[in-house]
Amino acid sequence: MPTIDELSEPYANFLRPVLPDGPGVCSSCHTSVIGTFTMCIPCRSARSALPSVADSIGFVSLAVKQHQLAHELAFYKDERYAFEKRLRKIAGLTAILWRWLKVHEECLARSAGVPSFSVVTSIPSTRNREGHPLETMVSEKIGVTIDRYRSLLNPNPDYPDDREFSTERFRVPENIQAGTSVLVIDDTFTKGSRVQSASSALKSAGAATVGVMCIGRHFTATQEGDFGVAAKSYLKRSSELTWNWDRCCYCEN
Ligand SMILES: [Zn+2]
Ligand SMILES: [Zn+2]
Repeated sequence: MPTIDELSEPYANFLRPVLPDGPGVCSSCHTSVIGTFTMCIPCRSARSALPSVADSIGFVSLAVKQHQLAHELAFYKDERYAFEKRLRKIAGLTAILWRWLKVHEECLARSAGVPSFSVVTSIPSTRNREGHPLETMVSEKIGVTIDRYRSLLNPNPDYPDDREFSTERFRVPENIQAGTSVLVIDDTFTKGSRVQSASSALKSAGAATVGVMCIGRHFTATQEGDFGVAAKSYLKRSSELTWNWDRCCYCEN
């Protein structure tokens, strides 16, 4: 059996660091921002639309549009392809998430203001009929999450499949014990409507702290005007950094 490090290592060729908080970087979702803004437009929208949001959001890597990681994150759950064909991608993504959580879950927890997360859950799919491979990864495969896994988020069947921030998007099937800190796992973060809506629902159900870890932080640098300039500059800074499994956007020093 190959180890987690062996399975994840080939990904080092195309993983791109998410930049830490600082000038040109959104303090919440770590995408590029223009001028002197400290928070991007979607993160500001989340705060006005929802009663509460995630305390901290972490990522393994940028998922640059049309690049390899973005492709893998779409393919691994694409039911148009046979499950057997997707198994290798699922195993690879499981390995990189496992390896990342082993080292950097602690950094995310610290950034969220807690020593650790007592419960782990994942964002369910609204479309997949066969169940979501992400849930299987987190609840049955990844050694550092399986013992803490609880299925706490149900998609609201009456909610439209849009990209809005809404407390109606998810239902939490049980009350969460006061003081609980929850780690929410998702595959791709675009503007955060799913994870922020889920975080809000979990806090309404009793969670005290919610941290979010996503494998890919969707990124595109093809926008017009100032947004494009800011995104290209961000991507250049990221590309100039050598990939390092031991460094996340919340690592200290
Ligand atoms: Zn943001
Ligand atoms: Zn770290």
